[in-house]
Amino acid sequence: MSGDFSQHWRQLDWDHLTLSIYSKTAADVERALSAKKLSLNDFMALLSPAALDYLEPMAQRAQQLTRQRFGNTVSFYAPLYLSNLCANDCTYCGFSMSNHLKRKTLDQEEIKQECQALKKMGYEHILLVTGEHQTKVGMDYFRQHLPAIRTQFSSMMMEVQPLAEEEYRELRTLGLDAVMVYQETYHAPTYERHHLKGKKQDFFWRLATPDRLGRAGIDKIGIGALIGLSREWRTDCYFLAEHLAYLQQTYWQTRYSISFPRLRPCAGGIEPESLMDDAQLVQLICAFRLFAPDVELSLSTRESPFFRDSVVPLAINSVSAGSKTQPGGYANSHADKPTELEQFAPHDNRSPQQVALALEQAGLQPVWKDWDSHLGRSVHRP
Ligand code: SF4
Repeated sequence: MSGDFSQHWRQLDWDHLTLSIYSKTAADVERALSAKKLSLNDFMALLSPAALDYLEPMAQRAQQLTRQRFGNTVSFYAPLYLSNLCANDCTYCGFSMSNHLKRKTLDQEEIKQECQALKKMGYEHILLVTGEHQTKVGMDYFRQHLPAIRTQFSSMMMEVQPLAEEEYRELRTLGLDAVMVYQETYHAPTYERHHLKGKKQDFFWRLATPDRLGRAGIDKIGIGALIGLSREWRTDCYFLAEHLAYLQQTYWQTRYSISFPRLRPCAGGIEPESLMDDAQLVQLICAFRLFAPDVELSLSTRESPFFRDSVVPLAINSVSAGSKTQPGGYANSHADKPTELEQFAPHDNRSPQQVALALEQAGLQPVWKDWDSHLGRSVHRP
């Protein structure tokens, strides 16, 4: 097996990088803002407290680059929660195995109903989400259900437990286009503190997952850190940029996506260790756009309507809308209210059409799909 990001990660010193970020000056920020192509050192300057005084020029440049690369479009996707079973214990998540929740895994008929409800909402682009349960929601379940789901949508992403390279190869033949796998934090001691049981405790297995995806030829890989989990969100996000740069260089045929989840309340959840305010999140999103102009930047319904309407036109090119974070949430009319089955409570509860309208009023065109199969992707027909 060839190397993976772990080797690179071992060369990065968390404390040293934190000091470097905090020592950046206005001159460093100005240099980064005038660079044609940003280095990781430039990204670090834009992430630093010194860059907060430069939000306006950062936002202007981010918007210009976003329009140049993606036109006036925003891609819409919806999460489809297939199960809330999980064999892990993460301190920040409602699906943790030690939480006494009603557990549910959708069967064929229930999946069909969810798909129909999502199609009615206009979606062509979906993200399948499960807890991480290798035996009950593992490869057999995916083999059984993915092909039928895929035939109904033009693109299909997954956010499930990290799998082996061979398993990703097989899922590709079942129509899988993209996988989101968030490291949560790149700070190993914090990671250990928040992952108490199950396979997710293996920091390095997770850290090498995007490598396995790249080797398996998955078309798009989504990475991210759970902002607020570690004490220094800036350092975590710097590691995220290192990870992105490594992946882009190593698996250059693959597309990448970055998400910016901030910790949200959930059943039995924890308080964030570091708080990131709205201005800092804008700073982070703009810094990523300047550093990686071609990469998809995604913002979920964890954020408020006001924040999303203000920030999406600046630098975001992928959003979810009308999301239900519990299995069966779309077809089940009683699921409008928050339920104990939810992974987290969404903050933007508007319908997809309301979100689309707000973005249209800002001059953006909603796009309900990520990819068309006739553009060259083979689709498995069951
Ligand atoms: S974050 Fe993922 S792995 Fe952890 S408890 Fe929640 S669903 Fe399970």
